[in-house]
Amino acid sequence: MAKYRDYYQRSLADREGFWREQAALVDWQTPFTSVLDYSRPPFARWFVGGRTNLCHNAVDRHLATRAEQAALIYLSTETGAEASYTYGELAAEVNRCAATLQNLGVGRGDRVLVYMPMIPEAVFAMLACARIGAIHSVVFGGFAAASLATRIDDAKPKVMVTADAGMRGGRAVPYKHLVDEACRLAKHPPEHVLIVDRGLDPGMTRVAGRDLDYAQQRAKHMSAQVPCAWLESSEPSYILYTSGTTGNPKGVQRDTGGYAVALATSMRDIFCVAPGDTMFTTSDIGWVVGHSYIIYGPLINGSTTIMYEGLPIRPDPAIWWKIVADHNVKTMFSSPTAIRVLKKQDPKFMQQHNLSSLRYLFLAGEPLDEPTARWVSDALGGVEIVDNYWQTESGWPILSAQPGVEETPRKFGSPSFPAAGYDVRLLHEGTGDEVGTNEKGVLALAPPLPPGCMTTVWGDDERFVKTYFETFPGKLMYSTFDWATRDDDGYYFVLGRTDDVINVAGHRLGTREIEEAVQAHAGIAEVAVVGIADPVKGQVPVAFAVVKDPARVASPEGVATLRREVMDTVDRELGAIARPGAVYFVTLLPKTRSGKLLRRSLQALAEGRDPGDMTTIEDPTALEQIRAVLASR
Ligand code: AMP
Repeated sequence: MAKYRDYYQRSLADREGFWREQAALVDWQTPFTSVLDYSRPPFARWFVGGRTNLCHNAVDRHLATRAEQAALIYLSTETGAEASYTYGELAAEVNRCAATLQNLGVGRGDRVLVYMPMIPEAVFAMLACARIGAIHSVVFGGFAAASLATRIDDAKPKVMVTADAGMRGGRAVPYKHLVDEACRLAKHPPEHVLIVDRGLDPGMTRVAGRDLDYAQQRAKHMSAQVPCAWLESSEPSYILYTSGTTGNPKGVQRDTGGYAVALATSMRDIFCVAPGDTMFTTSDIGWVVGHSYIIYGPLINGSTTIMYEGLPIRPDPAIWWKIVADHNVKTMFSSPTAIRVLKKQDPKFMQQHNLSSLRYLFLAGEPLDEPTARWVSDALGGVEIVDNYWQTESGWPILSAQPGVEETPRKFGSPSFPAAGYDVRLLHEGTGDEVGTNEKGVLALAPPLPPGCMTTVWGDDERFVKTYFETFPGKLMYSTFDWATRDDDGYYFVLGRTDDVINVAGHRLGTREIEEAVQAHAGIAEVAVVGIADPVKGQVPVAFAVVKDPARVASPEGVATLRREVMDTVDRELGAIARPGAVYFVTLLPKTRSGKLLRRSLQALAEGRDPGDMTTIEDPTALEQIRAVLASR
């Protein structure tokens, strides 16, 4: 492991020299004057004074050598659509979209909210924003109108880009309809909504003056050539909202130059994708994995990226492997939940296609349990399974094997080692002191955070510092809010969150957010939501609700009705991804004498474990009630 160790050590010991070298992987219109400005900890500015553009790096700079190479291959098993865009064609589409946005008054620093299904126009829109220096804020299509409205009000977008509908499992999922509702709820609705009409929602309505058809607008700009806006390296490229412990999602803000350099470095060191190779990332553009490894990473690298709309098991559970075989995929990136879904299918589907092109399957977003890792490793034969750990905040892997640096042995259950530039520490929750080998600590990063990581919380520097850097007394350390251990060989093992964030099918949700959504139901007085272990999704939320009028749940029919209403409320407020797997009604929640909810005890009980020390509980009958409702499930 000497090669990896030396490489990693240098990234910390000679931070500026190391990143100066990596910066040569991308184009700069104006060279940077210094590698790092860390004069205002914990705020780091990378490649100060350098001017660059993400769209130039992802598209234009490849035109001289790769104009005819496929940049984006689009496949939808939902609509049957298939399309391939060369770098030349991608450039033309991005210019058309950029001209359209400019025509609507969007300029440098303006926000554009993208609420779209997995269609190529979403990629065009994001790259078009990057081209003109506008800041995109992509919101995952699974979020409902009220969540969308919160994000609209925080980002105050000038324009929203959406589609009539997405498709999932053969059913149309309305998007535009939710945008209308969100615009009604929002205090700062956008001036215009640009709609890609896929013809999936015949009932779609339009608001005169505000709503515009993308096909019509595009037609006006067929030969548009829009110059790239040369941004200073630390100017924001995008905002991506993520859940935390409060009900209010945080806008993770990313820079421009640091992100481009970090992604280019990761494509070589971690993902081992060369220019011209094909990468297939099964995530959604609404998540950080989609931003970094469906779009920006592969394109900045001059590779071919595959964008897939559909489920892993339709039309049959071999579909992903067919895509791999048809398109010569070298590196794939997916989630443990998706693999657990495939694991439940007939294993013959894993063997139907020629997978000789596939070298690596990267899995991230949630803990990769050992049985799943072993199963997929066996099922795919010679493919290397690479568990990698990171967060929306980091933008690229924090912990991962780095086969592009050195092939190191894998340990199942471990995402291996820190990536370049991440000064990883395991700290005692209370004192902030480093813990020993094999001892559990909070996974923390000593600042400055490396290039590519979030630079602040959108519009709220104070929240950035308070949330992430002030959890250890007297020490300025970034907390990931994950527990981890490190073994004698230096391998890390991630053990789950230290806070009230849960991870459902690789999607991060705040229990507080779900609680607020449940409480939007007028019949609920109080509620506690905890995540409990689930064999497929990793975790599912479970709600314990106190009803205002106990008569409503006096009969089994009453319970069933209210339960359905509560679930519908969560669907409407937050989105179906956050719907609790179960809702239990009680008259009292277990709290301490000072009124703090005993969340961990509640979670332990719901998972059938010992609730632990109960001496601080105010009213022990609360626990008895919880036990009773759980026993009746
Ligand atoms: P998100 O910001 O939505 O990508 O969620 C990030 C969180 O997912 C992390 O803080 C971890 O709790 C969890 N996570 C991501 N990747 C892994 C992994 N490889 N192993 C364990 N947990 C992970």
